[in-house]
Amino acid sequence: MKILTIIGARPQFIKAAALSRVLCAQENTTEIILHTGQHFDANMSKVFFAELEIPEPDYNLEVAGLSHGAMTGRMLEKIEHVLFDEKPDLVLVYGDTNSTLAGALAAVKLHVPVAHIEAGLRSFNRRMPEEINRILTDHASDLLFCPTRTAVDNLRSEGIPEKRIHLVGDVMQDAALFYAQKARKPPLPEYCPLTLESPFILATLHRAENTDDPMRLKEIFNALAEISRLVPILIPAHPRTRKKIAEMGMDISAVSNLFLIDPVGYLEMIYLLRNCTLVMTDSGGLQKEAYFFNKPCITLRDETEWVELVEHGCNLLAGYNRDSILKAFAAMHQRTINFSSNLYGAGKASQTIMKHLLAESAR
Ligand code: UDP
Repeated sequence: MKILTIIGARPQFIKAAALSRVLCAQENTTEIILHTGQHFDANMSKVFFAELEIPEPDYNLEVAGLSHGAMTGRMLEKIEHVLFDEKPDLVLVYGDTNSTLAGALAAVKLHVPVAHIEAGLRSFNRRMPEEINRILTDHASDLLFCPTRTAVDNLRSEGIPEKRIHLVGDVMQDAALFYAQKARKPPLPEYCPLTLESPFILATLHRAENTDDPMRLKEIFNALAEISRLVPILIPAHPRTRKKIAEMGMDISAVSNLFLIDPVGYLEMIYLLRNCTLVMTDSGGLQKEAYFFNKPCITLRDETEWVELVEHGCNLLAGYNRDSILKAFAAMHQRTINFSSNLYGAGKASQTIMKHLLAESAR
């Protein structure tokens, strides 16, 4: 079986690393990796290929830094060329980015079966570009691999045929379990005096709805500044967030216990997750990783696709308003949480997906 894996953004490299290890070990299966170029900074892309031992991409389309339509359109055209040349038996797409949608669309139009990893997630907020990407990708896909029962229910309620839907668990759980053994302490810049052995909060922020709205960004940073007086906050900052902060003329370095650093690699992220006291984020992946590493999480959004975390009291939705974030912090800081329920499978999602792919190719 010849599989074309289409990836382009940081969380996709991590998810693909888990499944790629299983694909590589499978006889009579070849994986061709196509990197769309959506994330291109060394610390948003190259580092993951190196440290997670993902095979070098066979194709790099170098499509980045454009508007949504232009980016998706160019990817679509270039992926179509690769499909003509490679003639894969199946295309694998991950998550909810423009790369995901472009890959699924290019393949379905050429009648190449599409498998969507992390299918069925919904925020029910259609203003999020990710939500549109997810819905369209799910409806274009032949095999929908869902991480949670909620995701399965979402697809059923949209009328997706039952035979396409498979509950497999979360490949991010596989990745977290496997790479936890290799966790590595990140070197911190001189201006950041944290030891990482004393309490600190780990925060990330990159969703367009937060970074591209100056009012929201200001509210969030005001709340973080306030909280950092009690517990220092470390923020491995997404390039988009840094850019927006600079554009707004906000001076984060003036806040003494709030430390912005460059994005870290995944192995370093695991170290930070293990050692922090609390996670504050608008990232989808990090909400789950907080849970994998038994840390309470405050989500800086109004809704989440990972509703089971909220239902189990592991995650609190705080929105972007300063006061509601401070209230959430008061509620979550030092809250005792039961992390024992196995919400995302047992770390065997990749193997289960492989079984389904083999069954599909035998049909
Ligand atoms: N991540 C990382 N280094 C960082 C920030 C995030 O390795 O500096 C990892 C994080 O642990 C998670 C993934 O990137 O596995 C999440 O990516 P992101 O937040 O960009 O996207 P989302 O999950 O929201 O789609």
